[in-house]
Amino acid sequence: MRGVDSLAARSAGSLWVATCAAITSLPQLCADARAEVVVIGAGYTGLSAALHAAAAGRDVIVLEAGEIGAGGSGLNGGQVIAGLKHDPDDLESLYGERVGAQLAACSGSAPDLVFDLIRKHSIECDAVRAGWLQLAASQRHLRSLERRAAQWRGRGADAAVLSDREAAGLTGTSRYCGGWIDRRGGTVQPLAYLLGLARAAMASGARLFIRSPAAKLSRRGEDWCVETPRFSVTARTVVVATDAYTGRAFDSLRRTVVAVPSIQVATAPLPQHLRAHILPAGQSVSDTQRILRYFRLDAAGRFVLGTRGSYRDVPIPTDSRAHERAVRELYPELAGLPLQYRWGGFVAMTPDGIPHLHEPAPGLLAGLGYNGRGVAMATAMGRLLARRALGETSASLGFPITPVRPIRLHAFSRMAARATIRYLQARDALERSVRRPPSRAPA
Ligand SMILES: Cc1cc2nc3c(=O)[nH]c(=O)nc-3n(C[C@H](O)[C@H](O)[C@H](O)COP(=O)(O)OP(=O)(O)OC[C@H]3O[C@@H](n4cnc5c(N)ncnc54)[C@H](O)[C@@H]3O)c2cc1C
Repeated sequence: MRGVDSLAARSAGSLWVATCAAITSLPQLCADARAEVVVIGAGYTGLSAALHAAAAGRDVIVLEAGEIGAGGSGLNGGQVIAGLKHDPDDLESLYGERVGAQLAACSGSAPDLVFDLIRKHSIECDAVRAGWLQLAASQRHLRSLERRAAQWRGRGADAAVLSDREAAGLTGTSRYCGGWIDRRGGTVQPLAYLLGLARAAMASGARLFIRSPAAKLSRRGEDWCVETPRFSVTARTVVVATDAYTGRAFDSLRRTVVAVPSIQVATAPLPQHLRAHILPAGQSVSDTQRILRYFRLDAAGRFVLGTRGSYRDVPIPTDSRAHERAVRELYPELAGLPLQYRWGGFVAMTPDGIPHLHEPAPGLLAGLGYNGRGVAMATAMGRLLARRALGETSASLGFPITPVRPIRLHAFSRMAARATIRYLQARDALERSVRRPPSRAPA
């Protein structure tokens, strides 16, 4: 199980750990306990669920296998993104008009929830709401992005299509054919945001225990009993919030997602003359390559870039060769700047590309599978899980509760993912090689 590694080992080399003060005094579970709600996993999903349930007066315990931040929520790119991988119209044709519209509305408003929580709980996490750019690697992709922008605009989002010159002006690279800006999005220091949620949950009364992995779950009459290696917690409701780090203790759930590695690198702070033209207005970027690249600046002006990586928990320097190449291709002027940080984590992908909310038995809830869009969506899922734990009907949630459906031949998913990533990387490289060479961005 990936969840039990220490944060120190997993995120060695992480920019976010280096630039954020940890919470030092969290205990391990050291006696049997009782609560109304027990949450398993202290990422955005679990801590948002704990915060919302505790704020509504429930007695909540959170069990975290490692340290706070040991999962994707402490390791990610900090891009706060609205929406899901599917366009709103596609959601409506795939899931029907009502459910599709609910999925679009829930995911579209998820960044509002993030920035509201940050404001309400005074979370210091370098939050910037300058928008998210999705940039097209080809003319064909640009046409899809134009449709996406139009659909979101039609639903009231503050979004606009960007020409290639406009995209180059906002980013400082001419590598893209254009794209769209979604002003609902922004950036946070992801670990600082997570620790802020943890502090807010505790201030609302939730009890957090680290290095306390849930190893077994069983029924005790009307209650559930969650056993850790030494002690157990009994509660009427259990929320499993372990995403890509779900281990064999929840094996059916683990097999509903494929955990795909993503690695990030960060440079030293850019000198002022480069900051003036590289992402000068502070947007974050994802592109539409088959193996996408995502990048941003942090609060100190370091250039941070991520893309798919190796399956090692802790990346080694050769794992970031593709990143060095990407930085050089996008910004030749950064070629001489050393990479000071390298770290990675796992992203949970679902076969249908949407996150899943499950309730496999009364009082047992789970939310996972954000497909790389979890900063906003996992926070929103946590609130949905809390609302359900508080007794709201499934109909009023506005998010479908679906059966747990393990992926067939899941044991081979890592092998298949690795082969697919190599194949898609090769196709991306081929396409890049026939694209026009970069020219200087317009001033
Ligand atoms: C490198 C990377 C970059 C990303 N970039 C972005 C981005 O820029 N924008 C975006 O929106 N999304 C991004 N994501 C995705 C996002 O980080 C995740 O979707 C989100 O953090 C999931 O949150 P979570 O709370 O569900 O899971 P996690 O944060 O993974 O938390 C799960 C927790 O459960 C714990 N756990 C596991 N098993 C047990 C157990 N048995 N008992 C107790 N605890 C257990 C784990 O230790 C972990 O702390 C990225 C992910 C990665 C890895």
